Amino acid sequence: MIIGKSKKEIEKMRAAGQLAGLVLKELRSMVRPGVTTLEINRAAERMICDAGALPTFKGYHGFPYSICASVNEQVVHGFPSDYQLREGDIFSIDCGATLEGFVGDTATTVPVGTVSDEWLDLVRITEECLDRAIEECRPGKHLGDIGAAVQEHAEAHRYSVVRDYVGHGIGRRMHEDPQIPNYGKRGQGPKIRAGYCFAVEPMINLGTHYTKVLADGWTVVTLDGKPSAHAEHTIAITEEGPEVLTKIAL
Ligand code: MG
Ligand code: MG
Repeated sequence: MIIGKSKKEIEKMRAAGQLAGLVLKELRSMVRPGVTTLEINRAAERMICDAGALPTFKGYHGFPYSICASVNEQVVHGFPSDYQLREGDIFSIDCGATLEGFVGDTATTVPVGTVSDEWLDLVRITEECLDRAIEECRPGKHLGDIGAAVQEHAEAHRYSVVRDYVGHGIGRRMHEDPQIPNYGKRGQGPKIRAGYCFAVEPMINLGTHYTKVLADGWTVVTLDGKPSAHAEHTIAITEEGPEVLTKIAL
């Protein structure tokens, strides 16, 4: 069941979303060659806790960290570690904050130092896929329109769309109904209504869409070892269109 949110609830979602977005912005500015992903995790946890919120991911189904830190061929759910980011890496940071009972969930992929044009394009197109998906988040559209928008843009650039992991409804819980695949057909699936809140999150691969999970039970990697990029925002659907709750004004 898709849980619609009241204006009051969306206000709280906005506060949680803005916190998650601000934290992600700070983390982004820390990224450079030599920094460990564990240092970035520690900074995230401190900022979230200092704001009186909880790191949503920590303890979620036993996930041990406050961010997901996924480098290069890692798609999502990577563990922060003492790995030092290297020039040429692409580093996806996924961050969740629970504030006054509501969750904000947002992710971005950051180039580390100088990155090859091929990998930079992947990151850029993934962000564009997210923008296009957000444009579909309007009353009267269908869930399938979101996935179709991502898939059309990614495949036009000969990338592939991860099938095994999807976006989701969000609210008091990080993962609510519905699932929001990054592929699909226009006009299909449930109608989008004002008051719905979605976490839209394209995961786009340079090679094939297949993935596998590493022995740690969490880290998702591409099966072919080629890089993957990820971008995510939490969105509220209003009568006027999408409000991006995790977007921070520059
Ligand atoms: Mg996320
Ligand atoms: Mg999410």
